[in-house]
Amino acid sequence: MAIIGGGASGLILASFIQNAGKTVVFERGDRVGKKLSATGNGQGNVTNTGVRDSDYFSFSENGVRLAKSCIQVFDDSSFAAFLKELGVLLSTDDRGRVYPSGRQASALTDALRFYLDFKGVNVRLSQKITDVKKVKDGFELTVSSPEGEYTVFSENVALCAGGKAAKNFGTDGSAYRLAEKLGHTLTELYPSLVQIKTETQHIKTLKGIRVNGAVVTVRLGKTSKRVQGDVIFTDYGLSGDAIFRLSPFITDKIHSSSVELSIDFLPEFSAQELQTTLENKQKTLPSIAAQELLFGIVNNQIGRAVMKRADGEIKRAVSLIKAFTLPVTGSLGFDYAQVTKGGISMDEVSQTLESKLIKGLYFAGEILDVDGECGGYNLQWAYSSARVVATAINAKCEGQV
Ligand SMILES: Cc1cc2nc3c(=O)[nH]c(=O)nc-3n(C[C@H](O)[C@H](O)[C@H](O)COP(=O)(O)OP(=O)(O)OC[C@H]3O[C@@H](n4cnc5c(N)ncnc54)[C@H](O)[C@@H]3O)c2cc1C
Repeated sequence: MAIIGGGASGLILASFIQNAGKTVVFERGDRVGKKLSATGNGQGNVTNTGVRDSDYFSFSENGVRLAKSCIQVFDDSSFAAFLKELGVLLSTDDRGRVYPSGRQASALTDALRFYLDFKGVNVRLSQKITDVKKVKDGFELTVSSPEGEYTVFSENVALCAGGKAAKNFGTDGSAYRLAEKLGHTLTELYPSLVQIKTETQHIKTLKGIRVNGAVVTVRLGKTSKRVQGDVIFTDYGLSGDAIFRLSPFITDKIHSSSVELSIDFLPEFSAQELQTTLENKQKTLPSIAAQELLFGIVNNQIGRAVMKRADGEIKRAVSLIKAFTLPVTGSLGFDYAQVTKGGISMDEVSQTLESKLIKGLYFAGEILDVDGECGGYNLQWAYSSARVVATAINAKCEGQV
């Protein structure tokens, strides 16, 4: 069995393969799990207790359905139980985000690395797969290594090579071509879990300001998505936890329709309360300049930007504090994104994530057209899909071991 990619899905797949001695992981980087070790700002938001209730995104209905069925097979508690066996304890925060108890993402990489070593899986580093050819009874893989190019034969191949996001971790999108050459279709690709570009006319003076606990809403046709969290103003638009969490709902829509974000700076106060406070303030402090009226209510610079946009009118300023709208113009792109939206079409894989076009070819993780929300959902997809593939391969090889 050849596993292409020693990231989250490749390592989990190798962990569950019974015929470990005949399994080889090819990783183009000089270490396995480089990205895994950087997740959750280095703290490793390794899964989420809400995965079973979450809908994953896919451009195919089949993809959404398959993602759900893979999660049912191996969910956050199955993952936690597996890690416990490896001596890694997990702790959960108030948003269901699960971290290694020592708050180091590398704990997971280390545990998997040690486990594969113990199982006798052959992990080959700095080995990039540049071609996969279907040959009689299996596949011929071309490997590019510091020692030169060579070919290997494998009966089964799993493409666990990730997507196009964050190319500094070895995922530059080149692995899609391996699947495309074998006849598979790639959907459109978009960056997800990424900073958002907006029109900047009204936020030019706000660069670097962070608003804690803002409510950000995006309207998408007849529905809307609302998230509460931190928003950071930047020179290109918006960053921060709330923006990352909204991004999976919008990055694929920006090109085809006009998308607008709206920020409520003070969700705990009603428009009426703000209106009354400001009217009273004007009576108590009649000489205060309109530009300064919002001091003590929002960050001073935000107050000035709001009053400028409201032309000094209190009613308009109140509306802007509750709904500061900004047209979305794009995202910061794949290099800054954590995840790829889109991938190898889910209509071309079976229930066990085996290619419907070529027997013995499997896919797991981000390379497929499935992505999740921010908060541990993407890593869980990588593990769940890998677990499903491992089960299929174990069943297939049972008679042969
Ligand atoms: C900075 C950052 C933080 C993140 N934080 C979180 C988080 O906290 N929680 C969460 O759920 N998700 C997070 N993610 C997303 C998550 O890490 C990915 O969705 C997940 O790692 C995907 O797993 P994968 O196995 O499909 O791909 P990857 O983990 O990307 O692994 C793919 C591997 O394949 C190798 N490879 C590629 N092409 C080849 C080739 N031709 N030959 C050999 N090897 C190859 C790559 O070098 C790489 O090691 C984060 C992502 C980033 C970039």
